[in-house]
Amino acid sequence: MAESGIGKVGVIGIGTMGNGIAQVCAQCGFETIVTDLGAAVLEKGLAKIHKSLDKLVASYEKTGGQRGITADNAASAKALLKTTENLEDLAGCDIVIEAIIELYEPKAEKFKALSELGFSGILASNTSSIAITKLASNYKFPERFMGMHFMNPVPIQPGVELIRGFLTSDETSETVTKLTRDLGKEPIMAEDKAGFGINRMFVPFCNEAYRVVEEGIMSVEDADKTTLCLGHKMGPLSTSDYVGLDTMYYITEVLREEFGDFYRASPLLTRLVQAGHLGMKTGKGFYIYDETGAKTGVNPAVARYRIGG
Ligand code: NAD
Repeated sequence: MAESGIGKVGVIGIGTMGNGIAQVCAQCGFETIVTDLGAAVLEKGLAKIHKSLDKLVASYEKTGGQRGITADNAASAKALLKTTENLEDLAGCDIVIEAIIELYEPKAEKFKALSELGFSGILASNTSSIAITKLASNYKFPERFMGMHFMNPVPIQPGVELIRGFLTSDETSETVTKLTRDLGKEPIMAEDKAGFGINRMFVPFCNEAYRVVEEGIMSVEDADKTTLCLGHKMGPLSTSDYVGLDTMYYITEVLREEFGDFYRASPLLTRLVQAGHLGMKTGKGFYIYDETGAKTGVNPAVARYRIGG
């Protein structure tokens, strides 16, 4: 039995984050049910999870059990994981974790719909930046609402930022903290202010990197060489492509609304999003990627784009 007392987990969204969250929940022994916008997206997301589990088994075998998971663990995770096109199938879950697009309205709609379906469990949002108290106002039980901000890639990153809303109860906060530990992750507490702690620090750093490129101060590759200078594992432009440029853009907008114009998205990021170059998920962002996800070079549109500083 999990320390949190949670049995069944629902996940809304099977994109970059939702598929990692669902995988880790199933891997840790929770019955997990995921929904998204239609069968094709669900099928693609589920295939990605199965592939990721198989890779972990290969890693276990290759490292003699030092890394990865056993074949039995992967098989039981696959058996515990279900997908559905109907949100109502999540109504009986102990907790639902939402991981859809970083926009207020679609998230609010889901929380209202769950309330109408009679859901009464804990509702957690994986939002990167949107006020938890404002999101919670759409749920019938705001005391059972909390921010649960997983990091990307979820199966690898050990930290989860937890954010209490204005009305979140002690009981909800304790259960979510225990669930985070049940999932083998370290809880990091933050207050309910735009961007919370992690993205308040990280997103302005990336936004400055975009400005460094558009002002011609550094090339894309050189701006990414914080790997050599600051000890980061991945530079800000590669990380942004990995996160998704739409997500980075929406977060900067949330920061700007709360803290002012300094946080406005750089023109280069804005142009990339307008052009549908959203990073790895669309094959084009600051860099170009082939179908295996390997980088093939700098996006020529980015290399060409210059505006004065
Ligand atoms: P994504 O674009 O990769 O995936 C979003 C998924 O949500 C897609 O599968 C899409 O079909 C689905 N979706 C969109 N609208 C929907 C709706 N109305 N109903 C059901 N499904 C819907 O995005 P992502 O990167 O997984 O981001 C999801 C959330 O996680 C966002 O709130 C984001 O800020 C947050 N987050 C992202 C990262 C990251 O590195 N990408 C890290 C931490 C948190």
